Order: sequence, then C-alpha cells, then structure tokens
Amino acid sequence: MALVSRRTMLNAIGGSACMQAAQASNTGRSGQAKRGTYRLTRDIPVEDEYDLLIAGGGPAGAAAAIAAGRLGAKVLLVESTGCMGGMATSGMMMSFCPVADGERCLTGGLMLEWIEALHKRGFLKPGIKPDTWRKRYGGWIPFNAEGLKLLLDELAVSAGVETRFFTDLIDADADARTGQVHGAIIHNIEGYRYVKARAFIDGTGNGVLAKLCGATCRDAGKDTPGIMPPTLISLFAGIDWARMGDQQAAMKKALADNFFTQPDRHFPGMQQIGNRIGLLNGGHIFNLDALREKSMTDGMMKGRRLAQEYMAFYRKYVPGCENVEHVTTAPLMGLRESRCVLGEYELGLADYHARRKFPDQIGVYNYPIDIHVYDTSDAQYARYSKEFRETGRMKPGESVGLPYGMIVARNFKNLWVAGRCASMDVQVHGAFRVQPAAVLMGQAAGTAAAQSVRTHKPAAEIDTEILISTLRKAGAYLPQTHTSKRMTRKTG
Ligand SMILES: Cc1cc2nc3c(=O)[nH]c(=O)nc-3n(C[C@H](O)[C@H](O)[C@H](O)COP(=O)(O)OP(=O)(O)OC[C@H]3O[C@@H](n4cnc5c(N)ncnc54)[C@H](O)[C@@H]3O)c2cc1C
Repeated sequence: MALVSRRTMLNAIGGSACMQAAQASNTGRSGQAKRGTYRLTRDIPVEDEYDLLIAGGGPAGAAAAIAAGRLGAKVLLVESTGCMGGMATSGMMMSFCPVADGERCLTGGLMLEWIEALHKRGFLKPGIKPDTWRKRYGGWIPFNAEGLKLLLDELAVSAGVETRFFTDLIDADADARTGQVHGAIIHNIEGYRYVKARAFIDGTGNGVLAKLCGATCRDAGKDTPGIMPPTLISLFAGIDWARMGDQQAAMKKALADNFFTQPDRHFPGMQQIGNRIGLLNGGHIFNLDALREKSMTDGMMKGRRLAQEYMAFYRKYVPGCENVEHVTTAPLMGLRESRCVLGEYELGLADYHARRKFPDQIGVYNYPIDIHVYDTSDAQYARYSKEFRETGRMKPGESVGLPYGMIVARNFKNLWVAGRCASMDVQVHGAFRVQPAAVLMGQAAGTAAAQSVRTHKPAAEIDTEILISTLRKAGAYLPQTHTSKRMTRKTG
C-alpha cells in the first residue's frame, strides 16, 4: 500500500468529509436522542489514486471487484469483516437462490463460474447434480461457506484486486450537485485513510457509500406496513438428514402447543449444507431497523435467544434432529431490507409483471417476490404466501431484465450501486435482493466502471452496447436481440 507524503485535513476536503463525532441534527427517526456537536479535525494520509474503490465485499462487491480487476482496472475493495461473501459467508446464508428457469441457466458469467468451481472442488451440498443450476426451475444451490471464502480470495488475487479486510468505509468526499465523487475515507487498525479514486461502487447492502455521497435513498419501512424483518442465521450439527422429518408439519404442531415465545408461522427452515450439518433460516426479528445501531444491537441479542428456542424445537419435534447441536449464530445480522439507492432506472413492479426486457439489460433473472411477514398475524402470512407462491411468481421459462440504469446512482457521474441496495421498488427488491441477482449486478457494475474509467465517460453516458458485449464475452447470458448505445432511463 503506497502512501503519498501529502496529508490533508478532514474538514478541508469537502463538506461530507467533516467528521462530527456526534451529530446534533436529528434525522427524524424515533428513539434518536438529541446530542451536542463535536467537530473532530484530523490529518489523514492520502493514498495513491485507484481507478475504482468498492465498499463492501458481499456477492455484489466481490463480483464487481473481480470483474473490474480482470479488465485491468486498479481496484481497491474494502470490507468490514475478514472475508468476502457478505451474507453468503459471514451471514452464513450458504445457499444460492435458484439460477435456472427450467430451460437454461440465467446467470452466466461470474455466478456460474463460482458455482461450477465450488462443485468441482467439492464445496456444494453432497449429492447435488449440475442439472440444479444448468436447467432445473426452483432448485437452491447450498454450499460450504469456507469454499466460497477461499474461492473469492483466489479470484480477487488473480484479478489483481487489492483487498483490505477489517476496513470500514466511513465517509465520502462527494459533491451531489455536480454528481462527482472525489474520494472516500476508510478506517482500520492503522487509522484513517483518504482514498482517491476515479470510480466508486457501493456494495455495502445498506447503501452506506451512496448515502454519504448525498445520493437519494429510500429507507426501509417508508411506504410499507413495516420493515421486512431480518433473521440471524444459525449453523447446526448432528443432523441425521436421511431421517429428517417434515419441518413445516413439526412447526404447525409446535405452534399448536404454544411452544414458542414468538409464534411465527413463516418459517423457511433448516437446509442441508454438509453430511451432518445444516443452516437454519428461522426466527424473524420484527421491528428491527438496520439503520439504527441500538436496534441492531438489540436484534443480535434477540436473534441469539431465538436460536436457542429453535434448537429446542428441533430436538423435540423434528425426527432426525433429536441430537442436534447448535454450533453458532452468524456474526452478521441477516438483513433483508434496509436502504435502496435511487438509480437512473428504478426497476418496478410493473416491469416485473410485464416480464419486461431492456436493450441495455445487464442480466435476466427469475425469482418470486419474497417479502417476509411484517408481523406474526395470519393476514401477513396469507399475504406473503399468495405473493411468493402465486401472484409474484414467474413461470418456468420466464424472466425479467435488469436494466443498466438500476445500478447507476441517479445524477452521479462516477457512482454505481450493486446488490441489495440497488434501485428497485419494494416489491422487486423483495425478489431481486438475493445472491445471484447481486452477483449479476456486481459484475455489471465492475465492468461498467472499468469502461467509464477507460473511456472517460460518465456512468450514465457509457456506450451500453460495448458494456453488453463485454459482459457477453465474460460469459453473461444476455438474450436481447435489440441493443442500444444509450442507457434506458425512467424518471419519477
Ligand atoms: C435471512 C436471509 C436469508 C437469505 N436467503 C437467501 C438464499 O437462500 N439465497 C440467496 O441467494 N439469497 C438469500 N438472501 C439474500 C442475500 O443473501 C443478500 O441479499 C445478498 O447477499 C446481498 O448481497 P450484497 O452483496 O448486496 O450484500 P451483502 O451480502 O449484505 O454484503 C455486503 C458486504 O458489505 C460489507 N459492508 C457493509 N458496510 C460496509 C462498510 N461501511 N465498509 C466496508 N464494508 C461494508 C459487509 O460486511 C458485507 O460483507 C437471504 C438474506 C437474508 C437476510
């Protein structure tokens, strides 16, 4: 890591970079006490200029970094935890949502490369068949998180990406009026750094970078009866998968017995990962606001308590799980919804229902609208079930296009957003918040950013025909016959 000798004052590099240890202004959310303001002034070492800075190394950020690195961009990836993969590794949600539509795999490019590599190395669920991702409609692809961590390390290194773990992006030097991001402030054990780059990608899942840049965002819960609740994923061992009983039937019985302190009918359940192990996606943490630290802290504690109840449930009610052991809860909260960043195109429910395709689409995908219950009422479970199983479900062979504009932060020249925080309305977010879609968006964002840096064109003005052909060369499945040099826009 090269440091230049010049040092800069935090409050001299732009308004957004002025560190205020405690903000006096209240953002309007309840529970936020008014505090005084303290202005912290620091000299911060300035780092060499990068082509591209990516915040967050989840499925989206990791894909962006690998794609851009392979195209020759000088990439810095900063990640808060000690590995790439985000929810897929640190969040322990070790199962890719379905990637095939009954006829073919929809997610060529990096997603398919990762799956095939994990399979070859023996890191997928025992006995899984390639048909699951090459053709089958609705087949999940469970994997071993260590396998994915190792693979992403290797791919990032071989693409020339500079990765920094245990590093947080904490502020941005951006001008929302001109749409230019100049640099970002990161923090790790060595202190603060001001990193200059020509392009920036927000892969934080929570829109952290985009928000700091002053981009327009939609916080969860704004237009809905609540915030889609997270789940703290758990790892369990000692499962006799050959004797595994019907988990949903067991849940019905336990609920009838008043077994749980929180009677929650919506229960995705335990998924097989290895010969004797499984991950539990069960136990919603209602009313958690991921944009509030106290809510997150309380939520982690609640998640751990819930996990104990679920362990007791499995031992008592589910055949094959009598001797199950709870290994651990995930270090990362399983956030489904927090913040979306408004892009040049917001993919909406009408597009989803129309199975719309776009000349500049950077991927096509097929996954049902999966907005988990906002509370434990029967009405919410009925609403969720109808959407997930009927009204919000695409048939085999169908898919929706992901237009390039959904990953371009609106009115910004050099800021992209990929993954869970990309530009989608609430319903489409409920469908395309999942890992395969995040990888599609990440690969496209990294490819577009590299093209923008090379051609000196702003994000919204790059030639999208070149973007599509670069993605196709990298293996992406982009079936559009009609392409366009210009990005599809949607205002409003
Ligand atoms: C309970 C649950 C179950 C799910 N089940 C499935 C499933 O079965 N299959 C599936 O495909 N998808 C599933 N999903 C969805 C999916 O896992 C996520 O939505 C997906 O991982 C989003 O990818 P991402 O890269 O946008 O964000 P994330 O995976 O959230 O990654 C974001 C990364 O950014 C890092 N980060 C955040 N802030 C900063 C910062 N300031 N500085 C540096 N780094 C930062 C985080 O540490 C993290 O590594 C599930 C999600 C949840 C919550």
